[in-house]
Amino acid sequence: MGGAVKSPACPRSRGRSNPSSPRQYNHAPMCPERLRIPLEGWKAIVAHVESCLPEEACGFLGGTGEDVSVILPIENILHSQVRFQMAPEGQLRGMTRLEREGLSMVAIYHSHPKGPSGLSGTDLKEAAYPESALLVVSSSDGGWVGRAFMVEAGPVREIEVRIDDGTVGTPSGDSV
Ligand SMILES: [Zn+2]
Repeated sequence: MGGAVKSPACPRSRGRSNPSSPRQYNHAPMCPERLRIPLEGWKAIVAHVESCLPEEACGFLGGTGEDVSVILPIENILHSQVRFQMAPEGQLRGMTRLEREGLSMVAIYHSHPKGPSGLSGTDLKEAAYPESALLVVSSSDGGWVGRAFMVEAGPVREIEVRIDDGTVGTPSGDSV
């Protein structure tokens, strides 16, 4: 008895370059200071959140670094007004798509139709992706606000959410 466990395929021995991965997976940044969401993306998030009312909505935000470029709504299989759980097949589809496009999961979003604007105790307990920010979308004065948090090992850290107006890249044409 005793002795080291001799596993021929110890997962820990997998180095940084993983030959089974067709593309280099773009991991979330170490310490993003903000989340940048293009206006169109924010509108898509809000539209999803409103379409799920009165239930909580949830999904992934894919992108690069702190920049969100893809909104991936995922079904909340609890269909609850105070809890969410992403449908496993939706999660898998979302992650596959992000990997295929070389994007990272910048954040996970969900809504708090009845507040609070921050994370709930359950959110903290169930945070499953410490490298991704948690974006909470809550209703406020007839509109919606987004607050984002990093829940790494250690204290929860709120980061800035910036909604960009999307004018970047718009060809100068008939306007102005
Ligand atoms: Zn929550």
